[in-house]
Amino acid sequence: MTRTRFAPSPNGLLHLGHAYAAILAHDLARAQGGEFLVRIEDIDAARSRAELVPEILADLAWLGLSWDGPVLHQSSRLAAYAEAGERLKALGLLYPCQCTRAEIQAAATASGPDGPLYPGTCRGRAVDPHGAAWRIDMARAAELAGPLEWTDVLAGPQRAAPLAFGDVVLLRKEAPASYHLAATLDDAHQAISLVVRGQDLFQSTHVHRLLQALLGLPVPVWHHHPLLVEPDGRKLAKRRGSPGLRELRLAGVDGAELAQALRGGRFPAGISLGAGVGDAS
Ligand code: GLU
Repeated sequence: MTRTRFAPSPNGLLHLGHAYAAILAHDLARAQGGEFLVRIEDIDAARSRAELVPEILADLAWLGLSWDGPVLHQSSRLAAYAEAGERLKALGLLYPCQCTRAEIQAAATASGPDGPLYPGTCRGRAVDPHGAAWRIDMARAAELAGPLEWTDVLAGPQRAAPLAFGDVVLLRKEAPASYHLAATLDDAHQAISLVVRGQDLFQSTHVHRLLQALLGLPVPVWHHHPLLVEPDGRKLAKRRGSPGLRELRLAGVDGAELAQALRGGRFPAGISLGAGVGDAS
């Protein structure tokens, strides 16, 4: 059975780009007689705002979207993240790191999809694990897992290439698990068969595919969709004035009508669908 999900981080209110993503995930599931789930990615204590969750759910309902089962909050899954972290540690694949952001910035000589590439300072060093972040030794992990493939329905078959990320953090001091670890574990926990999300997360899938292999998790298919963009080609952001869904909802806009317009590719003035992965630009 096809199962998709929409997994917003309640760091801010939803905008039209979120609406587009949620509608797509919902419709792809429903077209197959499948299920659509909602997950709240609320483990970033510094940025996550609990009071936004009811607004987010109200926005989805206003768009005419219905979801199956209870909403999963990542904050209820900390024990599962810690357990997976212990398994990766037992495999000898994680190491503690006490580097500050500034130190990494200063020492990095290249950048990866998530920002400055960690230069490996703490790898192989005796580092106090107390309060440390735990990084994955990506080269060692990729070697242990062997060659891996995954499929994106729009971009086709992919060979997993997680090395571009370097030794990313999987467990951190301030948040119990990184996005990569938590999302991968939760997609398996929720039995998601089709991961629908924006193509800004396309590269992350290389890391997620590796984690699935290391942790013995099922492998879904991915659908990374093009993002809604502003006239300058940059992705929508509320701070640059793209209308928020809550604002439209409270102004009395008909959410179901808006959803139909987005489905039909009729976007509000100035907004369009950007290029897809691999499209000539
Ligand atoms: N929580 C992420 C976001 O709001 C989405 C994660 C995902 O779909 O894998 O950008």
